[in-house]
Amino acid sequence: MNRKLIEKADRLLSKERGTVYKDPGGKINIALVYPNTYHVGMSNLGFQGIYGLLNSMNDVVCERAFLPDDRDLDEHVRTGTGLFALESKRPLNRFDIIAFSVSFENDYPNIVKILELSRIPLKSPERASHYPLVVMGGVCAFYNPEPLADFFDICFVGEADEMLPEFLDLYRASQNKSEVLKGSLSLEGLYVPGFYRITYGVEGKISGRHPLENAPYIIRRRFLKDISKTDISTSIVTPETEFSGMYLIEAMRGCPWNCRFCVTDKIYSPPRKKALQAVNDEIETALSITKRVGLIGPSLSDYPYIKDVLKNPEVDFSITSLRAGRKTAELISLMKDRRSVSIAPEAGTERMRNVINKKISEDDILYTSEHLFSSGIENLRLYFMVGLPTETEEDISGIIDLVKKIRDMSRRGSVTLSISTFVPKPFTPFQWHPMESLQVVKERLKMIKKALKHVKGIKVFHDVPKYAYMQGLFSVGDRRVSKVLEIMTGTGAWTKAVDACGLKSEFYISRKKDFNETLPWDFIDMGIGKEVLWKEYQEALST
Ligand code: SF4
Repeated sequence: MNRKLIEKADRLLSKERGTVYKDPGGKINIALVYPNTYHVGMSNLGFQGIYGLLNSMNDVVCERAFLPDDRDLDEHVRTGTGLFALESKRPLNRFDIIAFSVSFENDYPNIVKILELSRIPLKSPERASHYPLVVMGGVCAFYNPEPLADFFDICFVGEADEMLPEFLDLYRASQNKSEVLKGSLSLEGLYVPGFYRITYGVEGKISGRHPLENAPYIIRRRFLKDISKTDISTSIVTPETEFSGMYLIEAMRGCPWNCRFCVTDKIYSPPRKKALQAVNDEIETALSITKRVGLIGPSLSDYPYIKDVLKNPEVDFSITSLRAGRKTAELISLMKDRRSVSIAPEAGTERMRNVINKKISEDDILYTSEHLFSSGIENLRLYFMVGLPTETEEDISGIIDLVKKIRDMSRRGSVTLSISTFVPKPFTPFQWHPMESLQVVKERLKMIKKALKHVKGIKVFHDVPKYAYMQGLFSVGDRRVSKVLEIMTGTGAWTKAVDACGLKSEFYISRKKDFNETLPWDFIDMGIGKEVLWKEYQEALST
């Protein structure tokens, strides 16, 4: 084992509070893997929650592993050190189960890197029975696991806190891997990609999905009915995260709004609220570690007990997401930590916000911004998107004008724009829509940056468009895209990898799809009819 890498792992562990160390003997050994760095993974409440949930079971030991940063990755390769779990330093390939928690498409290439680094054959059928079972959970598994189908033995389509106990019962009762796989076919929400054969027509579109050995044709997404009963909470507090030493509490799961570009409200439907007592109990636990508490939920202004929670004088609260509107303005005065707040207008004109069904007006945005500044908040972050369906230059000018109006309200602090490129997501009305061309997106970003360059106190950040297109490919891709990921580990360049596979990225991301086309994720029952989404899509296009 490489001394440098072990020392680095120990340094991280020494800063943590809440780490679980268990004797692995006679237990189910699970390596929980986040396919990005420690910093990113440990900032993810879902990842942390699953660690706590698994370790709360007496016969399970769960340890963590992450993608090494570039320096450590070189050290692993240079010294031939396989990837190991932080807690016990055991190599990943000695665990019974490797469970990946996957939240972002751009992490897909890292999954392949991690499997390689762990000396585990990449593809599910190539792994003999002595290799760990490799499973996938996290939001990407909910809506389109197909681009990763070759690498995973089982995908959890839905919320893991609902499904994990049943899956582990099945694991305990099974004699071997093959029994686990076959048993998974009758557990609702578990998807075993190896039991399906996909066929393609002459144009490259999916012509058939053929379940083998009585595998179910449709996989129904699972969700936890009462999130007050979940065990998902912060397990480990460490300064080495995005929220540095903050204890995160999930107050809401799902979102009552219905923005047409957004997948969150669809995959976490129905929206659920944690009972006030349950949140207060978690705050008590948090206070034994830190005063800093972050409330998590996609639209916390809609949490009915938010004011009661924020009134707690012992806690410094931070809220991740606020919706522009009068309710939000009221909440701000209850927050102690008011250094910086974010709101998401998403688009610059009323028309464009109607297209995406954002349901906030310019008045809402200006009223909220004014209230934020007058309550002492100096730094405001605004989220926008470019490349949205039907977007024109007028909509881009709308972003520029809106930001200038907001900046004019206060001379202190800064207004930061965070701009991302629109990427179509499965189970949204825009799942059929192509991405805007790279050239147009670049021009629109340039237009915003140029117009705001000389306005004092405005900073503009945006994603790298070429990675947004990669995200698009993995978001709406089918099984053939697995090959791209495999080749990418060698070349690193996704466009070259697409060419090398004989695929065309335009086929996936630049083509408007028909209602009747079989989409790669159509086998998942999300609880929303395709007709409803299509109607919404047509409405958006005619707005
Ligand atoms: S963008 Fe935000 S407000 Fe809109 S549906 Fe998604 S989570 Fe809800």
